[in-house]
Parts: sequence; structure tokens; C-alpha cells
Amino acid sequence: MRFGRETMDEEALRRELEHLLQQGLETEWRERAYTSEEVNRIVARLQAIRPDDYVSKLKVAGFTSQPYGAGGEIEQACETCMYFVIHRQFCELPELQIPVKPKWSCRLWRI
Ligand code: SF4
Repeated sequence: MRFGRETMDEEALRRELEHLLQQGLETEWRERAYTSEEVNRIVARLQAIRPDDYVSKLKVAGFTSQPYGAGGEIEQACETCMYFVIHRQFCELPELQIPVKPKWSCRLWRI
């Protein structure tokens, strides 16, 4: 499924993506990327995805609509990630470029 930027603004797209995540869209969130090789593999896969194919981005990056790692590991959430643009509620990782919410998470989270 693709969403054209020209037909949907960021807020509408964020809502649509949130709906998909909350409806149980299967993403690769379980396989974490802790080594640079693992991260590079994910980034390479993201680079092969069309910029407007947001659903594939959600799947490959392993998005969740809540923080990852509560109760044990450091909690991973967009709001604490270096790629999160707070005033725009946006992920500026070049391979993602996607509207997000502060409590969402993905396996490319970096502090
Ligand atoms: S890279 Fe960071 S800001 Fe972007 S979606 Fe993943 S956790 Fe959120």
C-alpha cells in the first residue's frame, strides 16, 4: 500500500499509519539490530523501498506503536531518539523520512 504525499498531509498519514499499527500490522520488531552489521542490513533494505511506500518502511524498520523494552532494557521510543524532530513529530533518518508519534519505536532507535 502506498500513500501519495501530494494527496495526504503528514498528520493524515500519521493517523493512517497509527491505525495500521494498532490494527496489528506485522512488523519485524522482534528481531532487534544491536550490531552495526545488523543495522546496515536494515538500512540497505530500507534504501531499496520507494520513498512513498510507508507500509514497507514500517515493516522493515520494525515499528511498534509503543516504546520497546519497557521493564528491563533502556526504553526505546521516538521521543528519545536522535532522529526525532519534535516540532514536526517526524523521523528524519534519511531512509525513513516518516511522520511518527513520540511513543512509537523502531529497531533503528539511536540515542
Ligand atoms: S529511527 Fe528513531 S525517530 Fe525514527 S522511527 Fe526509529 S525510533 Fe523513531
